[in-house]
Amino acid sequence: MILNDDYLTLTIGKQKKIALIAHDTKKRELVEWVKENSEELKKHFLCGTGTTARLIAEEAELPVRAYNSGPLGGDQQVGAKIVEGAIDMVVFFWDPLEAQPHDPDVKALLRIAVVYDIPIANNRATADFMLHSKYMDEEYDHQIINYNKKTQERMKAFMKK
Ligand code: PGA
Repeated sequence: MILNDDYLTLTIGKQKKIALIAHDTKKRELVEWVKENSEELKKHFLCGTGTTARLIAEEAELPVRAYNSGPLGGDQQVGAKIVEGAIDMVVFFWDPLEAQPHDPDVKALLRIAVVYDIPIANNRATADFMLHSKYMDEEYDHQIINYNKKTQERMKAFMKK
């Protein structure tokens, strides 16, 4: 635990808010993973990008809140929810073998997950390890950059100019 005001301690609750996203060639794999793990996943709040969310809701029969489709801004919406503290973890099976039209959005989402210290699984093995972690059944404290302090510092730097 870092004890200075450069970081804030935030708590991920026992019930997790999980975002699910898969590129087209990975959707089948994600749906299968969700079906295999539906007993665990139904304890949590699920959301996802448009097509992925609808597919999971339909095939795994779980409630999933759908944002816009990824190429139409869905990844950016998920990123914004991370910033707001409304998403605690992400399972994102992106395609490593094909270029995506919304690659900048994908990159932005991966980046913001790191900034906010959000667990993010990008393949099935990581998703398995994440979902079967002891932290899934308890609260988890993590430390993120103290954005109020950062903003104040930047403000001060500009005011001097
Ligand atoms: P989709 O978006 O779930 O609407 O297909 C996912 C993505 O391509 O990022």
